[in-house]
Amino acid sequence: MNFSIPTEISKDLHRFRAFINSNVTRQLPAWYQSREIPHGFFRSLGEGGWFGLKTEKGRLVRGSALREALLAEELAKVSPGVAVAVLAHVDLGLMALFLFGPEQLQQQYGDSAVSAQTLMCLGNTENLAGSDVAGISMTAEKVDGGWILNGTKAYVTNGGIAGLAVITAVSDSQAKRNRRLSMFMVNLNTAGVRRTKLNKPVWVPSDLSRLQLEDVFVPDDHLMGTRGRGLQQVLEVFTYSRVPVAALTLGTAVGAFELAFGHMHKRKIFGHRILDFQAKAFELSKFYAKIESARLMLWQACWQMDAGEDFRQASSLAKYLAVEVTREVSVWAADIFGAASVIENHPIHKYPMDAWAASLGEGTQDIQKLIIFRELMKHPHSGRRMVPE
Ligand SMILES: Cc1cc2nc3c(=O)[nH]c(=O)nc-3n(C[C@H](O)[C@H](O)[C@H](O)COP(=O)(O)OP(=O)(O)OC[C@H]3O[C@@H](n4cnc5c(N)ncnc54)[C@H](O)[C@@H]3O)c2cc1C
Repeated sequence: MNFSIPTEISKDLHRFRAFINSNVTRQLPAWYQSREIPHGFFRSLGEGGWFGLKTEKGRLVRGSALREALLAEELAKVSPGVAVAVLAHVDLGLMALFLFGPEQLQQQYGDSAVSAQTLMCLGNTENLAGSDVAGISMTAEKVDGGWILNGTKAYVTNGGIAGLAVITAVSDSQAKRNRRLSMFMVNLNTAGVRRTKLNKPVWVPSDLSRLQLEDVFVPDDHLMGTRGRGLQQVLEVFTYSRVPVAALTLGTAVGAFELAFGHMHKRKIFGHRILDFQAKAFELSKFYAKIESARLMLWQACWQMDAGEDFRQASSLAKYLAVEVTREVSVWAADIFGAASVIENHPIHKYPMDAWAASLGEGTQDIQKLIIFRELMKHPHSGRRMVPE
């Protein structure tokens, strides 16, 4: 077992830190105030090759999951809200195009999405169906040459700024529950699309919008994957995206931890630094141990993905543990700052809020537990898993 980061990735990580210093850190206060991330930022990420996917001869190619996890953690340390906007573009939109986009769609959109000329998003959740993905009600009616989509996607990260959306809809209403949905690539600049920006105190400055589709025409060649397999396909996209979301979540914990650690060095109470109270030093050790254990699970998920192994359980374990740890660490870190932590533009304020958001995206903690249990039951005789023979 080798836990060292490959030299190439390590070099990339150093370059990415420099990129963040010059393209994010100073700009953040303005972005938080306007609650917007300039499109140019996404383009500079694309130009720098910082997305985990690229095109080769018109086809999308996926890079190393470990590299992407390390970069996502690094960006989320500074701003989980900026990191989630990047993640929605890359790991929901582009990833769906990579996994299920037919060749001509990858040729048509791959280059502009990889360079972030066009931003992407994925709309699945509706008001009455989130965890229960099969229960969505947006309709896709078959017409000559394509499909007509009607319905509303309730919460779409990047929905207000993206040009393309991956959308799930009921294409075969009479079919069995797991054969009713299909996945479509929707040009959001088409007639009939209405976007409403939602106001949220989490994952600022990312965009969260409602997408209403009224008689939106989608051509036949914009069907992604197989008709009737939309449920399985969107769940597969989430299996992939859960790994970078776990990294983003871990970055949220690390960002909060580092700020709190720094404050504990400086802040004097009763004539002592916070760090000098052993009770507080022990808390620091405890949370450091938890962060490190969540990171090991995340790296295992990355390793399994890169090795082409089945990583379904690992991705849920990684997300589950990252969220548990991050919820605890971020609230603790905010406490270390006392009253100052509740002031909205205080640097620590965003972390507990963003940990809250992280517990919802790509499946709640209950959904992670459902997947972990299901996978456990699928491998009852695996020596590594703690299941009775
Ligand atoms: C900031 C933000 C960004 C988002 N971005 C996107 C996006 O880009 N695209 C998109 O499609 N969606 C997005 N979502 C939606 C997100 O994926 C859903 O909120 C999530 O899947 C949960 O669905 P729900 O909100 O309908 O909750 P529900 O499914 O109604 O769940 C409510 C509660 O019931 C629990 N529960 C549900 N099922 C079970 C079960 N079987 N057993 C036990 N408990 C259960 C849940 O854990 C939860 O506690 C976003 C959400 C947020 C907050």
